[in-house]
Amino acid sequence: MMNVLVLNSGSSSIKYELFDKKDLGVRASGIVEKIGEERSFLTHRAFTPSGERIERREEVEVPDHDSALETILKVLVDENHGVIRDKRNVAAVGHRVVHGGETFHDTTVIDDRVIRGIRENIRLAPLHNPPNLEGIEIARKIFPHAIQVAVFDTAFHHTIPEEAYIYAIPYELYEKYGIRRYGFHGTSHCYVAEVAARYLGKPLEALNLITVHLGNGASITAIRNGRSIDTSMGMTPLEGLVMGTRCGDIDPALPFYISGRLGMAFDRIESLLNRQSGLRGLCGTNDMRSVVEGYRKGDKRASLALRVYCYRIKKYIGAYLAVLGKLDAIVFTAGIGENSPEVRSLACEGLEHLGISVDENKNALKTDGVHEINPAEGDVRVLVVPTNEELKIAIETVRVLEQAKKPGTSRYSPGE
Ligand code: ADP
Repeated sequence: MMNVLVLNSGSSSIKYELFDKKDLGVRASGIVEKIGEERSFLTHRAFTPSGERIERREEVEVPDHDSALETILKVLVDENHGVIRDKRNVAAVGHRVVHGGETFHDTTVIDDRVIRGIRENIRLAPLHNPPNLEGIEIARKIFPHAIQVAVFDTAFHHTIPEEAYIYAIPYELYEKYGIRRYGFHGTSHCYVAEVAARYLGKPLEALNLITVHLGNGASITAIRNGRSIDTSMGMTPLEGLVMGTRCGDIDPALPFYISGRLGMAFDRIESLLNRQSGLRGLCGTNDMRSVVEGYRKGDKRASLALRVYCYRIKKYIGAYLAVLGKLDAIVFTAGIGENSPEVRSLACEGLEHLGISVDENKNALKTDGVHEINPAEGDVRVLVVPTNEELKIAIETVRVLEQAKKPGTSRYSPGE
């Protein structure tokens, strides 16, 4: 049985999921955490063909990413719990890569040229691309027989037009340094848009959607005829919506003011805006469950945090409705989008005159798959769609694996 391994290699963890190549059923998944720290951990879940789940969590010795991937391989082929007999049963490895810059517009089979391209984009994503690249280089060594594939977080947004991605700063900064809006979470926005299209029974190319990804990071995308035409994250993931610990849109002069008034260095301000702001900055926690609990109990700061969070989403919905003209559906996804009726309700409150409303009974229901929460007579459909970035990476990996078998179909498009 051939398999596809999906890897998400971060600075201190590697997440993995193994899919059956034929039907994309999940065979195993897990994470190696705290790589390089004193105590590292492996959490591994395997699924038997009958769907039974086996879970183990153990301390492992993992000083670096090399040994983390070796640990993952070992647990996958383990003679008691393993789900594959030999590493040769992995036909392809799909890698999540955060920043494709302007070089990569699509899922790409990795060769030396592509590695150079990803390396060049490190200057755009100095925190994310290096561990992504490390995962790729180690996987090439461990699985030399497998095709390695890169799926970029930015790729889905390559269709955004100039007027939406150019910042109104000296144009040379774009030309010389690539300073522009790129957008992220593309894999998730694309995946939930496809699922929504199937649910609505229409081709994605015929639909205008607003997809709202609300996890720890959060972004919102305007999709016209199936293509991203604007998204709230920018050059970095700091722009746009209020997030767990990130501020999202602020007056760009704030860092200068904070620096002058508090005598704070820029690296500390960067950390303040990325790690101490958002929900956490407003009410002390970045866990939306606690924020909602506080709001229900009447806690003032928690209520304020929730209102600021939802108001920003509503503003973007209005903006993207203006950009799109016609809207078929709003799609909520990720941890908060899928699980918080309060956020969905507050974000859509008062938009009835725009054809957007939420039926509170439907909104309160907990279901697994796609879930429609607009009243029957609503103009715009409002959907809750569970995201699955790993599955989308596996689907993309199989797609290019099949394509790569045909000669002359390189997906690399430098400088396009
Ligand atoms: P990540 O971006 O790390 O993948 P997730 O998509 O898992 O994040 O989303 C994490 C967020 O989802 C957290 O803020 C968490 O509080 C929130 N969340 C999870 N379950 C619920 C729930 N039942 N109600 C409200 N928020 C929830």
